[in-house]
Amino acid sequence: MRPTVGVMNCNLPGHFGHHRYLRYHDLQSAQYGGRVQKVSLNAGFTCPNRDGSLGRRGCTFCNNAGFTPAYLHRLRGVPQQLDEGITRLRDRFPNIRHFFAYFQAYTNTYGELESLKAQYEAALAHPDVDGLVIGTRPDCLPEPLLEYLGKLARSVPVEIEIGIESCNDTALRRVKRGHDFAASVDAIWRVAARGLPVTGHLLFGLPGETRESQLEAAATLSQLPLASLKLHQLQVIRGTAMARDWRRNPASLPLLGVADYVELVVDFLERLSPTIAIQRIGSEVPARMRLAPDDAIPLSALQPRVATRLAERKTWQGRLFQG
Ligand code: SF4
Repeated sequence: MRPTVGVMNCNLPGHFGHHRYLRYHDLQSAQYGGRVQKVSLNAGFTCPNRDGSLGRRGCTFCNNAGFTPAYLHRLRGVPQQLDEGITRLRDRFPNIRHFFAYFQAYTNTYGELESLKAQYEAALAHPDVDGLVIGTRPDCLPEPLLEYLGKLARSVPVEIEIGIESCNDTALRRVKRGHDFAASVDAIWRVAARGLPVTGHLLFGLPGETRESQLEAAATLSQLPLASLKLHQLQVIRGTAMARDWRRNPASLPLLGVADYVELVVDFLERLSPTIAIQRIGSEVPARMRLAPDDAIPLSALQPRVATRLAERKTWQGRLFQG
């Protein structure tokens, strides 16, 4: 049976079960009656920042191989990828109750409507798939597509992930995103108006950001109808424009070390609305793909570091939020 649609909110600052921030995975487990796991897909899409519509070189930090599971690079169709992904995940996590097909690589709403629908519906036709998660850019969400997804979401969970990356237009220009923050604001409101839960993707430490601008982002994003956020620390990935710049002059790109990143995340969470769930607390780039920083630690170690600092500082998500 497919689970019902929607995201629960918790309005009690500091009251997040045993935790000090609102954990998306706990909400999902409670809502769907068990663990939900995303199955990453590479459906062969491109992106306007690579196909020449906006640019050919992509965002300066982007090398999708850094974020896509290795097995996806040699697989073809969506059903085959789901078969292999689900088998692998079941081996690792036998208690998974639901699988959501995760259109992750590149811009998964960029294409003709009929061909997009065919990909999404191929995923939903898989007998083990209970929902969709679709990752995209804010400037690739046309109304006809949202109308279709809004209708689809009446019968099956559909979540949209939007690459906001930054609320700071200077930083967005520096990394050649090809859109400004206003595009993200517009997209988040339009997607949410269709009843679709929106997750925002943020990158901390972009060139052009300051500590203050990143903390202001917590207040800015709290005014938007976001269901959840994914937080990431900037890492320099091999094969990117940023990697070339960093090799020429590492000092031109001051990267956040683990301790500074943890402190920034805690400060950010304090200012963030307690109703926005946290889906990720950092990035994990395979070591073979990462050029810098040197002191990166696995996500499994980063999460406890954040939890420990929240406890040491006797603080929690939303403590300084002014709604
Ligand atoms: S980060 Fe996303 S929008 Fe930017 S180049 Fe990569 S796929 Fe395209």
